Amino acid sequence: MNVLITGASIAGPALAWWLHRFGMAVTVVERAPAFRDGGQNIDVRGAGRTVLERMGLFEAVKAHGTGEQGLVFVDENNATVAEFDEADLGSNSFTAELEILRGDLARLLYEHSRAHVTYRFGDYIKAVEETSEGVIVTFAHGEPQRFDLVVVAEGANSATRQLLFGAEVTRKPYDLYVAYFTIARGEHDHELARTYNAPGGRGVCLRPDNQGTTRALLTLQQEAAGYEDLSPEEQKDLLQARFADAGWETPRVLEGLACADDFYFEFVSQVKLDRWAQGRVVLTGDAAWCAGPFGVGTTEALVGAYVLAGELRQHPSDYRAAFAAYERLMRPYVAQGQDVPKLAPRLANPQSELGIAVQHTVLRVAAVPGIRQVVGKLAAPPTDAIELPDYEHAGG
Ligand SMILES: Cc1cc2nc3c(=O)[nH]c(=O)nc-3n(C[C@H](O)[C@H](O)[C@H](O)COP(=O)(O)OP(=O)(O)OC[C@H]3O[C@@H](n4cnc5c(N)ncnc54)[C@H](O)[C@@H]3O)c2cc1C
Repeated sequence: MNVLITGASIAGPALAWWLHRFGMAVTVVERAPAFRDGGQNIDVRGAGRTVLERMGLFEAVKAHGTGEQGLVFVDENNATVAEFDEADLGSNSFTAELEILRGDLARLLYEHSRAHVTYRFGDYIKAVEETSEGVIVTFAHGEPQRFDLVVVAEGANSATRQLLFGAEVTRKPYDLYVAYFTIARGEHDHELARTYNAPGGRGVCLRPDNQGTTRALLTLQQEAAGYEDLSPEEQKDLLQARFADAGWETPRVLEGLACADDFYFEFVSQVKLDRWAQGRVVLTGDAAWCAGPFGVGTTEALVGAYVLAGELRQHPSDYRAAFAAYERLMRPYVAQGQDVPKLAPRLANPQSELGIAVQHTVLRVAAVPGIRQVVGKLAAPPTDAIELPDYEHAGG
């Protein structure tokens, strides 16, 4: 079996490793001209941790952790409103056991797979033609090539998915803008992430990393207003204006924003499709089921890679059966990860002073020892709606 994967971030390299492990020849094509570092804090939970263990990568991922030990909600004077710390770490808590920068995890997966996989950077699919023999892929550069299967792992805004599944893709919007960027480490930054709310649905969150800097998030709770279509410079100007009077440590965050070269801004939405496969082409990771930045995307990308590779191993001469089994196993799991109430961003980012006061009262109660352990463990969507098959020992 000769498989083309498109996208070399998390889902792509993880899948490449497993496909090689199960005896398939793999090429990964990535649009970026070279391996892409960068990206902010992501986490791996539940079955994602098991997949890393089965890949022999658990210890390496842990060693590359950001060191985040929990989350503290602060007021404008930086006084603690509520703290959920190390003692509360767990699969569904605010801070997961495995917190890592996206670039670090992607690099570990890339390095783990590159000796056995052909990586082709700076190229992308232009056209896909299915024949009885396989798929003829036309690239932007170079000669067309034939593959048995094509897996699209291009993330939430996948162009190849749009080419092949276009009108079938729907988005569930979350009335939330988020900006991510890196700033200089400040004197109050430490191993607990700190999060602060200002009226107007504004939030500022500062998270530690393992590189001596601080990862900043600005959140803006409001309906879509076309900001996602502005240029990065216009988006930065907009955030400067909207957050100018937000208080707390926002001035230093805005100083960092002005010169950030890794600025990323998105309007949060989930990707939904009624089917993930079309002929010999199948979707995985965020391209298939992006859940939004609510803490399950990376876990699901790892689990999806393992299940897709495993089912192809189980059904070596019937890719249709493999894709069907992959969907059967992954659908409930993905549905669980996407089950985030539409109201969640509104509750997390109150519009008024009164709303923030109510939020603080609720958080103070939630942080009482005993209650805290329960609330902390319910803070992220659960990721237990899957029982991972043991494909390595299952034969096939
Ligand atoms: C640079 C970057 C930074 C990120 N930062 C964060 C973050 O800070 N916080 C967070 O929660 N999540 C972040 N993510 C998303 C996170 O990695 C995913 O939600 C999750 O891990 C699922 O990964 P994925 O591999 O399915 O998709 P993604 O991680 O989105 O990766 C998709 C890959 O496909 C490549 N690609 C896109 N289009 C094409 C094409 N047409 N042809 C070939 N290749 C293509 C992209 O360059 C990328 O390498 C980031 C992703 C990227 C690419």
